[in-house]
Amino acid sequence: MPPAHPFDFDALDADDDKLKEECGIFGVVGVADAANFVALGLHALQHRGQEAGGIVSYDPGQGFNSARRFGYVRDNFTSQSLMQTLPGELAIGHVRYSTAGSKGQTQIRDVQPFFGEFSMGGAAIAHNGNITNANALRRELIERGSIFQSSSDSECIIHLMARSLQRDIPARMEDALRRVEGAFSVIAMTRTKLIGVRDPLGVRPLCLGKIGDGWALASETCALDIIGAEFVREIEPGEMVVITAEKGVESQRPFRPQRPRFCIFEHVYFSRPDSIIGGRSVYETRRQIGVELAREAPVDADLVCPVPDSGTPAAIGFAHESGIPYGMGIVRNQYMGRTFIEPTEQIRNMGVRLKLNVNRALIEGKRVILVDDSVVRGTTSRKIKEMILDAGAAEVHFRIASPPTAWPCFYGVDTPQREKLLAATMSEEEMREHLAVDSLRFISLDGLYRAVGEAKGRDASCPQYCDACFSGEYPVEPSDQIEQGFRLKAAE
Ligand code: SF4
Repeated sequence: MPPAHPFDFDALDADDDKLKEECGIFGVVGVADAANFVALGLHALQHRGQEAGGIVSYDPGQGFNSARRFGYVRDNFTSQSLMQTLPGELAIGHVRYSTAGSKGQTQIRDVQPFFGEFSMGGAAIAHNGNITNANALRRELIERGSIFQSSSDSECIIHLMARSLQRDIPARMEDALRRVEGAFSVIAMTRTKLIGVRDPLGVRPLCLGKIGDGWALASETCALDIIGAEFVREIEPGEMVVITAEKGVESQRPFRPQRPRFCIFEHVYFSRPDSIIGGRSVYETRRQIGVELAREAPVDADLVCPVPDSGTPAAIGFAHESGIPYGMGIVRNQYMGRTFIEPTEQIRNMGVRLKLNVNRALIEGKRVILVDDSVVRGTTSRKIKEMILDAGAAEVHFRIASPPTAWPCFYGVDTPQREKLLAATMSEEEMREHLAVDSLRFISLDGLYRAVGEAKGRDASCPQYCDACFSGEYPVEPSDQIEQGFRLKAAE
């Protein structure tokens, strides 16, 4: 089926062959027109979700107000008339790409933040991550009388809070989140409090910033930068912070301590390169991945070329370590948007050409090393290889800045079903043949761990990160998936 319109470039998305982060969250307390700051923060987090966004604010005179919209933050939350409906010094927001919930047929009721009215006042929550026992919780809650408004797993948190017997909202959140399994970074608000929580493993990120007399919570530090907030620290795995304009930040530890398992893919691809994670620049980590890759998988070639944009830092590191010249052999058209219709494979292939173009003058006659962040289905990699060969490259060598993605993520990242992942069904050599390139190498899991600062590599007995999409070792059992027939590695 052709695209609906010849300039419907949005449907032709070269990024369709990537794993996609599900959500970005942001909140502010103690500053005038907090919703404006939230809109800016969400704009900086747009790479974490482009399908829809929402903001809830609270003003003592006007109570809670909310706006939820499909599309980009810049297209919705820049209108003065809309922002005037979100007054107050306390606001939270959420951008999403659908994974759990009504994927592909999202309705506005699935767009967060979610709001609940409790006897002690209202509360809104914005969730980044995925609840792995959501189906079981939903069944239980419905049997006990809860009426769900959306198909989102995150709504379980509001219903669990409603059923708690605790007397204040932070305590009800603690109760609710102790029932929840999986990955969650949550930003919530009451009439006076901004609340931030990370799951005990700290799978998804969350950080704290200071802005004037107020405070901000954000998925990534790049969202603090845009509002001029100072980065204070990360919210620690298993920590809950309750922030008020009067008392500042109060920290609690509601969960049983566990060894953290932060998502290692945030370092590789999801987070913005100008963010800081675990005290490390994401850009510098990606550059270091390229250095490790060059050590592990050297090859004679004339040019190191990134697959833009996310392959760029690793390509720079590869070129530096190997001594092979770096060049922008592929140029990205920055003015393509995205939509969420499901393209056919044929259209998906066209999309790569519209979004990426080969710099023929640089490529012609060269042995080219292409550095990309990941191979998911392989559709984009194949197309890029063809473009490079069409431009006259003598050889094409792929170097991939992550290990083979052989397992789906159930912790808040959109992944194709396992059988659609190239690495789930093929060996590295079979993938090389499938992509028809001269060589294909992925960084090893140990090499990736070294690049993120673990000098001794991965501790196989107790891994320092979540790396389930590479290793198949899930730090939290994906119980809903198992119920639906998913087979864990050991059970294969
Ligand atoms: S499975 Fe992969 S993408 Fe998902 S949280 Fe773990 S490392 Fe991140």
